[in-house]
Amino acid sequence: MNQALYNKEVSCPICKNIFHTKKVRSSAIRIKKRDTDFCVYYNGENPIFYAVFVCPNCGYAALESVFERISPTGKKIITSRVSNQWVQRDFGGERTNQEAIEVYKLALLCGQLSNEKKGILGTICLRLAWFYRFIGEDKELHFLKHAKNCFEEAFLYEQLPIGNLDEVSMLYLLGELNRRLGKYEDAINWFNKAVSNPAIKRKKKLEMQAREQWILAKEEYKKIKSEA
Ligand SMILES: [Zn+2]
Repeated sequence: MNQALYNKEVSCPICKNIFHTKKVRSSAIRIKKRDTDFCVYYNGENPIFYAVFVCPNCGYAALESVFERISPTGKKIITSRVSNQWVQRDFGGERTNQEAIEVYKLALLCGQLSNEKKGILGTICLRLAWFYRFIGEDKELHFLKHAKNCFEEAFLYEQLPIGNLDEVSMLYLLGELNRRLGKYEDAINWFNKAVSNPAIKRKKKLEMQAREQWILAKEEYKKIKSEA
């Protein structure tokens, strides 16, 4: 048995089934490194793989933080659009990168059907992009683009913070996602907003990184302009 994992008992808000899902012990979490879009690499188990709960009975899937928050309309839609086609499958064991991709795609489907907030959908898409990055697949960019679009909408219309993303972290992340997607003008714009936001003064590391990525985006922009 994998000592880094433990079982959590969860009750499904849709079909009332009680099931078990794995979580990573906080004492077993070992951070190896981070990418500039907040993607974290771990030595050993990746706790993010386990942050989506999937009911093996009805197929309802969502991020742990919002799993119980499904609306009555959402319940009806999931029942008719997901549960009716669902073939019983248990994701309650150890998860591979591939299985993490599957559960996040299920959560994305359920979230889209139940009209979940863009901030939540953006979080799911960003993590899917990371999972594809881990295995070197270019579907990463497809999900980065979705994440960017969701977060841009969330920034305009939804309440922050979204998970750990407060306003200034979100401004930075929008800069970095646009930069990674080659949208340098937008990237420069968002980085500009991030570094001129007074709250960044309280986050020295983020401020430094924002300035570095801002310069990088400007250089990349200059380069494509000179090649055009
Ligand atoms: Zn269920």
